[in-house]
Amino acid sequence: MIHIIGGGLAGSEITYQVAKAGYNVILHEMRPEVETGVHKTDKLAELVCSNSLKSKDTKNASGLLKKELERIGSFVLEVAKRNAIPGGKALVVDREAFSNEITQILKSMPNVKIVREEVTCIPSENSGDIWVVASGPATSSKLYAWISNEFGKSAHFFDAVAPIVEANTIDTSKAFFANRYEGGTDYLNCPLNREEYIHFREALIGAEVLPIKGFDKKLLFSRCQPIEEIAKSGFDSMRFGPLRPVGLTRSDGKKFYAVVQLRRDNSIGTLYNIVGFQTRLKWPEQDRVFRMIPALKNVKIVRYGVMHANVYIEPYKVTDEFFRAKNRKNLFFAGQITGVEGYVESIASGLYVAINILRVLNGKMPVTFPRKSMIGALMDYVARTPDLKPMYANFGLIDKNNVANVIGVKEMLSLQGVKNEN
Ligand SMILES: Cc1cc2nc3c(=O)[nH]c(=O)nc-3n(C[C@H](O)[C@H](O)[C@H](O)COP(=O)(O)OP(=O)(O)OC[C@H]3O[C@@H](n4cnc5c(N)ncnc54)[C@H](O)[C@@H]3O)c2cc1C
Repeated sequence: MIHIIGGGLAGSEITYQVAKAGYNVILHEMRPEVETGVHKTDKLAELVCSNSLKSKDTKNASGLLKKELERIGSFVLEVAKRNAIPGGKALVVDREAFSNEITQILKSMPNVKIVREEVTCIPSENSGDIWVVASGPATSSKLYAWISNEFGKSAHFFDAVAPIVEANTIDTSKAFFANRYEGGTDYLNCPLNREEYIHFREALIGAEVLPIKGFDKKLLFSRCQPIEEIAKSGFDSMRFGPLRPVGLTRSDGKKFYAVVQLRRDNSIGTLYNIVGFQTRLKWPEQDRVFRMIPALKNVKIVRYGVMHANVYIEPYKVTDEFFRAKNRKNLFFAGQITGVEGYVESIASGLYVAINILRVLNGKMPVTFPRKSMIGALMDYVARTPDLKPMYANFGLIDKNNVANVIGVKEMLSLQGVKNEN
């Protein structure tokens, strides 16, 4: 029996791959019995914040990673593509339709049993079962305590969620639809002039934030800084970050001073999320301060921004390069708990672990993926880096002169006997 702990992005990918190959799987998902503080539904593969799976462009590292996942048969990515909604160059999904479909497919597989319970410890190796910890950045405290106790080493950092607003409460006479640098009308842009920007920034800096136990600014992941922290870091920081006015032109040909972008959050276009506005402002403060953006004067926030501690292990200390515990050959880790960062990266981690579990079950040695593929480079980095900080797909992980072309990835994997033998 294969036990997967966590029906998130990684856990759903593994469950599907292993069950499709004919093995019996128990998927242990604690929601809705135990809440994580970041998930809002009881559905599998819930996207906890943005509904964007980033760029589709293969010149972009995330785009290349997605292309590789597509070629080696990722189930979760396939469902994401089926539920795509307009989002310019990004793969943006209708989050509800996406997780509904994954939940339905996994529920309907005859050899998958979904058990709604919190796992707090993992039985000894002797049972003969394989266990996969795919419990994500919001792993329950009891399980995390067991992991810390068992493996001695652990780490954590903080991450943040941006607010979602009702589309019909946005004043579109003070906003306009346009994509940066290209045609299209997927984004709703809310400009601010200099004076409005100054007032907004002052209010943001002075607003009350929720205290978080153990909060340490140094632990904030640099790619997911709360908007108030960006505002504090310098007068123009927001104008070079989420409020950058570039790639958009005014009808009179002049440049905008600052622009807040909103991205569609569902296929019917009734919800929008405020791009880059992750925050730990108190909820009434979010209403007060974000309504200072002219087009958002009467906006209704339907999901407030929040901050949450993320947990991850350091695979370098805890696992081998296949994310199998060094001291327990029946225990794997997958997804963000291994130190990958991001939705697509978590799916990639799930697929990598699934392929290796299938190899082990077939009496074969697990394998690493080619270092010149995006997935291979990312897995290698996360598995082997001491003092790891969570890592997203980027070209810096690959030797630039040796970057695989997209077409080559499947062939590289089959050459290594990774895929065809499963
Ligand atoms: C607040 C926040 C915002 C984020 N925003 C983004 C973003 O905008 N874009 C992006 O690319 N990435 C984002 N991430 C990062 C990350 O990629 C996602 O969290 C991703 O969902 C991780 O996938 P996963 O499968 O590892 O974990 P998850 O998708 O979180 O799945 C883990 C599952 O395990 C369950 N679980 C936990 N403990 C137990 C237990 N003891 N027993 C049983 N079940 C358990 C949980 O309920 C959950 O369903 C964000 C993370 C956080 C925390």
